Amino acid sequence: MSWFKREKGAIENPTPVDERRVKTEGLWTKCNSCRAIIWKKDIESNWEVCPKCEHHFRLNARRRLDLLLDEEPWVEFDADLGSTDPLHFTDLKPYAQRLQDSQAKLGMKDAIITAEGKLDGRQVTCCSMEFGFIGGSMGAVVGEKVTRAIELAIARRLALIIVSCSGGARMMEGTISLMQLAKVSGALARLDDARLPYISVLTDPTTGGVTASYAMLGDLNIAEPGALIGFAGPRVIEQTIRQKLPEGFQRAEFLLQHGFLDAVVPRAQLKTYIATALDFFLA
Ligand SMILES: [Zn+2]
Repeated sequence: MSWFKREKGAIENPTPVDERRVKTEGLWTKCNSCRAIIWKKDIESNWEVCPKCEHHFRLNARRRLDLLLDEEPWVEFDADLGSTDPLHFTDLKPYAQRLQDSQAKLGMKDAIITAEGKLDGRQVTCCSMEFGFIGGSMGAVVGEKVTRAIELAIARRLALIIVSCSGGARMMEGTISLMQLAKVSGALARLDDARLPYISVLTDPTTGGVTASYAMLGDLNIAEPGALIGFAGPRVIEQTIRQKLPEGFQRAEFLLQHGFLDAVVPRAQLKTYIATALDFFLA
């Protein structure tokens, strides 16, 4: 008999690993704003807004359209437009691989859904960005889809709504991403010539090239509470101007106070707010 060596195999646990977990695991989450423990379903059914403190979590592109458009099915456009990886770009992994991974994970070809549907009975063109797809970045596909949506709005004489949620231009497509800023802005100028309204909704986060183009070009620029909105990051700005930035800088409320936005609208009121604004524009 040996004292220091286990003669038989490892101690067996009668319950398999999977069943040892508590059954409620994953059903609860901690709000990172008020620290309250909340049932996940409660946040989900509240359109990803914390029921305790009204902190706005990110809403994905498809649910965003469900929030804004009426229940009858809306029509999606250009769903199969995908990037060709024009620069054959590789950073930590090949861009082509990144695209494939995001496409498999999200079931969409790129970081935006463009659609036509009804918003409280009003026919509209609506674009909704998906942050989960490479940070909601704008490459050739996002730029082209937005441009086509604008052209469709002009052809069909419809109002345009774009919900931004993006880290900015997609670096893996380099200059081609930057060219989208001019292309989309040009299309928006034509929408303006056609005297059709464009409402830009800025959600957390809206930064970089998207802020520098269509997100800030709305007839109305409205944001969700607490959304991070900016062009460059705070550290870059501090280093450039050699000054400490004020508290809450680049948050929706700060931007509203300083005249960069027209309104900060809570998610629960967003649809009604846009409907009222459209009536005002189209009257
Ligand atoms: Zn909360």
